[in-house]
Amino acid sequence: MGIFHTTAQDPASHARCGVLQLAHGTVHTPVFMPVGTYGTVKGVTPRSLHDMGAQIILGNTFHLWLRPGLEVVQTFGGLHDFEQWQRPILTDSGGFQVWSLGAMRRITEEGVHFASPINGDKLFLSPEVSMQIQTTLNADVVMQLDECTPYLALEGKNKGQVITEDAAQQSMALSLRWAQRCRDAMQALGNRNALFGIVQGGMFEALREASLEGLQRLDFDGLAIGGLSVGEPKEDMRRVLAHVAPRMPANKPRYLMGVGTPEDLVEGVAQGVDMFDCVMPTRNARNGHWFTRYGDLKIRNARHRHDTGPVDPSCGCYACHGQPDAHGSSHGGFSRAYLHHLDRCGEMLGAMLASTHNLHYYLNLMQEMRQAIAQGNFATWRQRFHAERARGV
Ligand SMILES: [Zn+2]
Repeated sequence: MGIFHTTAQDPASHARCGVLQLAHGTVHTPVFMPVGTYGTVKGVTPRSLHDMGAQIILGNTFHLWLRPGLEVVQTFGGLHDFEQWQRPILTDSGGFQVWSLGAMRRITEEGVHFASPINGDKLFLSPEVSMQIQTTLNADVVMQLDECTPYLALEGKNKGQVITEDAAQQSMALSLRWAQRCRDAMQALGNRNALFGIVQGGMFEALREASLEGLQRLDFDGLAIGGLSVGEPKEDMRRVLAHVAPRMPANKPRYLMGVGTPEDLVEGVAQGVDMFDCVMPTRNARNGHWFTRYGDLKIRNARHRHDTGPVDPSCGCYACHGQPDAHGSSHGGFSRAYLHHLDRCGEMLGAMLASTHNLHYYLNLMQEMRQAIAQGNFATWRQRFHAERARGV
């Protein structure tokens, strides 16, 4: 008996709805997971996340390991009580951040040796260490340690060139051996939380299939697609996604890591993806970039300076809609002129309101997709989505 079952299937695409049972609650898919790198979704309170319908959020193993450190989180029995979020949490393996250190790290069969970017301490991350950390964090979903195969070679004689099939193959095979070690370590730790494997293989369909086959033998609770959105052209991402996602086991959750724009989410769902995460809605928010139903908006643009209207009158978030009064009626949200002013002055509230709006938009987008799939009209919904996004705001 797995932790996931599908509840609806779109007849015209691979899109589906499902229910995922985790230790801290039930998650309805397809789902977007806001990213809480340091144990906080930047600029948004847990209460606000709760109110806007976030079902599950991410934490970053690497960052939380370095700061505050495991002995602090241990005092709270895990991340949930430490950061005051009682719904499910997924943690990444720490591999992606270590891999991003570039010249500061050395990868061996055993694991990754690196210097702490905080204080230079010599540290070592292995499949066993990653499982130990994620067990201490008590993540509902634990990710295997993998090597994220880059799009462009980061080192060696081919540095800066598109990675070769041979290099991608070696990287994928290492991730597969680490997958086995992660599973064994979870069992040795007695950790009963969900463990996901990660499909690698770069831009090569045959390698992706080999990775998938190897992972299926290890019988993970769910599978993720890694190594996409790492600098490759969009058409490569779409090609690999279209090849891999529908081949993944139908009875397990499918998670597309670190992707992406609203369009990426919709097309990912159409390919049968169930779970997404991305820093884009919050990171872009801090740069005054608002995602809306009718396209993206740069609040810094001078045309908003005297605009008394909200960013998107059809959006129900606090920024666009405001707070209902004692009689339940709202007096409208924050004007574009005011949000433009906050952005120009670098005021914190500007970034907070933009983050709230963008996450609300992403979560609402997923809610609309779940509803459309369940009602059997996802194809129509998808067409309208693209038409509305192209309209301009
Ligand atoms: Zn809004």
